[in-house]
Amino acid sequence: MLTERLFARSARPSGSPADSSPSRWHHGPWWSNSYLLTPLLSILVFLIVMSLILWSLNRRERQQQEDTLYRNVAWAQQQIRLSMTSSQEQVQALARDLVVARADPHSFQKATADIMQGHPEILYMNWYISEQQPRWPTTALSIFSQRLTRPSDAQMDEAVKAAFSEARSTRRQIYSPLIYDDLGNGYLTLQTPVYREREFLGSIATVFSIEGILKHDIPPELSAKYKISIIDVNNRELATTSTRPRLPRDASYDLPLDPPGQGVSVRVYAYPQMTNFTNNTLVWLVAGLSCFVLWSLWSLWKHTRQRFEAQQALYAEAFFRRAMENSVLIGMRVLDMHGRITHVNPAFCRMTGWDESDLVGKLAPFPYWPHDAYPEMQRQYEMTLRGKAPSSGFELRVRRKDGSLFHARLYVSPLIDSAGRQTGWMSSMTDITEPKRAREELAAAHERFTTVLESLDAAVSVLAADEAELLFANRYYRHLFGIRPDGHLELAGDAFDAGEASSDSIDMVDAYAGLPAAALTESAADAQEVYVQSIQKWFEVRRQYIQWVDGHLAQMQIATDITTRKEAQELARQQDEKLQFTSRLMTMGEMASSLAHELNQPLAAINNYCSGAVALVRSGRSTADNLLPALEKTSQQAVRAGMIIKRIREFVKRSEPKRQASRVADIVADAVGLAEIEVRKRRIRIVTELRSRLPVIYVDPVLIEQVLVNLLKNAAEAMYDAAPQAPDPVIRIVVRLDHGFVCISVIDQGPGVDEKTAERLFEPFYSTKSDGMGMGLNICRSIIESHRGRLWVVNNLEADGRITGATFHCSLPVGDPDVPGQSGTQAFPSRTVTREL
Ligand code: ADP
Repeated sequence: MLTERLFARSARPSGSPADSSPSRWHHGPWWSNSYLLTPLLSILVFLIVMSLILWSLNRRERQQQEDTLYRNVAWAQQQIRLSMTSSQEQVQALARDLVVARADPHSFQKATADIMQGHPEILYMNWYISEQQPRWPTTALSIFSQRLTRPSDAQMDEAVKAAFSEARSTRRQIYSPLIYDDLGNGYLTLQTPVYREREFLGSIATVFSIEGILKHDIPPELSAKYKISIIDVNNRELATTSTRPRLPRDASYDLPLDPPGQGVSVRVYAYPQMTNFTNNTLVWLVAGLSCFVLWSLWSLWKHTRQRFEAQQALYAEAFFRRAMENSVLIGMRVLDMHGRITHVNPAFCRMTGWDESDLVGKLAPFPYWPHDAYPEMQRQYEMTLRGKAPSSGFELRVRRKDGSLFHARLYVSPLIDSAGRQTGWMSSMTDITEPKRAREELAAAHERFTTVLESLDAAVSVLAADEAELLFANRYYRHLFGIRPDGHLELAGDAFDAGEASSDSIDMVDAYAGLPAAALTESAADAQEVYVQSIQKWFEVRRQYIQWVDGHLAQMQIATDITTRKEAQELARQQDEKLQFTSRLMTMGEMASSLAHELNQPLAAINNYCSGAVALVRSGRSTADNLLPALEKTSQQAVRAGMIIKRIREFVKRSEPKRQASRVADIVADAVGLAEIEVRKRRIRIVTELRSRLPVIYVDPVLIEQVLVNLLKNAAEAMYDAAPQAPDPVIRIVVRLDHGFVCISVIDQGPGVDEKTAERLFEPFYSTKSDGMGMGLNICRSIIESHRGRLWVVNNLEADGRITGATFHCSLPVGDPDVPGQSGTQAFPSRTVTREL
């Protein structure tokens, strides 16, 4: 019931007036114990009153006991006194008889025997005529008399003597002070003077045993009830009725026995009272009752405590649930078995904008049903009530109070109470507008992405690393290779190693992930040019290892068709070759007159020598000796002419560019030999300086020669144009080794290149000459760069800043550029792989 009430309360949205803060529910512990206070107080009062009653009862009883004790002590004292007085009187009477009657030992003895019989406490009686002299040698109690009269016992003597003297002088009965025997027993001696007229006849000594007094003078009923002792002045117990040791709590009372005893008192100890049955019963009853009440109180407290704790736990649980319900973002709605809303949580209200009061207690159609969806909502509602709601929930539109709509998903589950009965249906509703939108956007993005990928002119494929299974292929890939992974493998070549990749695919992704971006680009995303024989196409392939959606390692490959580009490159290369060839022809064309002139010289010489020889033969003066030198010289000139022709032929020979191990010195010598023909025309010298021991370089010697001829020709032209009358114009060729490069520098003494010219020097068709084509340097640079080298120009400067000419530097790598590691250059921009299938 309590839980229901709590939940009923918690159903109210927070902030409503009926809402109560949790602190109101957490009562302090004081009230939980207050009901204990009253019974505790009453028990306390009850205990105090009972203790008071018992205490006063006890007090009264003690008082009574003390009164009785006092009376009894007085009685005991009285009894002793009476007995002593009676003995005194009898002895007095005997004394009188002794005076009047004739005294004889026999009658005295008889009289004393009578007295002693009546008073057993009297141990000894005798008549002394002087202090130590009995009238008659006594027959009775001789032992004691001897002891009494023993002269050595000074203390006894003194006491007895003193009493004797006092009795004699005062004529009255006198008790001696206490005397003690060896055992410590006390005795009293009564001296009764015997006077006839004025004549002192002696004194009757009567010895009382203190023990005897106690024994015979105290009534037995008294000695049965009390411990009665006789004590002397020193508080020493002389005799007692009981040997029981005194207990500290025993009540006692003293009364002096004076006279007859000097300083002797009677002390009576009351034995501890026998327990008062009524009193004790009462005490036990009270104690028992109190214990019972305390026990019942304790058990009540325990019970209440448990209840309180259970209640607290219940509260905590209720508040926890309430807080949970308030903080969840899922709207919750409870329908009873009839389809009536019995509860909605704050999230449901927030979501729909309807208040709890708008919803709770309502039957279908509910206010949040969109007007245009009543039939559908009604169908879902009926399915819910029949328990036929799908486990995946309903997707529905919900109308907010402000009329706006949102998409929601509603899950329904039966609501079971603590007894296991179904009491209704619990529905949870989530706003799926945003996820739906996100899903749609995602789908759209996916579609866009797919469209882009599909319409890409590159073949995109993803292959599972471990089992060579094609995970993705775009349209272009499918068009080229179908949906088989073979195409991917063909494109991948050696770059795909399924065994290695499968060993630990995730590690591999991690390994790639750990690499710096540059390394990744180099190792994984480097473009490779691949020729696929089966479809006779060139591709530029980029590949990368990626983590596929299922977490496995996969290789993504993007292959761009570069067949056209390749063909264009091939065409351009062929055209370049043609151009270079043409350029060489042109150079030769330009040099034709010089060459003709150069050839003319040996031919003219041959002609001369031959004419000379003919003339000698005709004149008949010919001998072997004078003919031979002419013929030898003729032969030399013919060789020279042949050399020139061979050089020209080789220079203009059309051939495929072919690299070979070449000696720099030879190339330079050939170029100089060729260029000299032209240069010499302008009276310019070419000086070659080979600076260091030069290695073999892998180049096409004809092309390099072409470059050098071109540079030498340009230098000569520039020098001649600037100063045709220069005294000794020289072009220097310096060859040196520089950091893995062979550097050939052509140094002229021309005007140099101004800044504007320098920028455009290597552009095609740039020329400052009226008849210049402007292609020479452009072709030179492309030749040098195709050999992985560099061609550049600097001005020769004097110390004063004057330009004394230009230097064209041309550097070429040492070693075979096609063998990695041998090349002076560090990397090649691209690499061509041809795959035969
Ligand atoms: P062309 O010789 O047909 O003009 P080039 O490409 O060989 O074509 O040369 C381009 C231009 O560079 C020349 O017109 C000239 O102005 C300049 N040039 C070339 N070599 C030199 C040099 N050694 N000194 C000064 N200028 C030069």
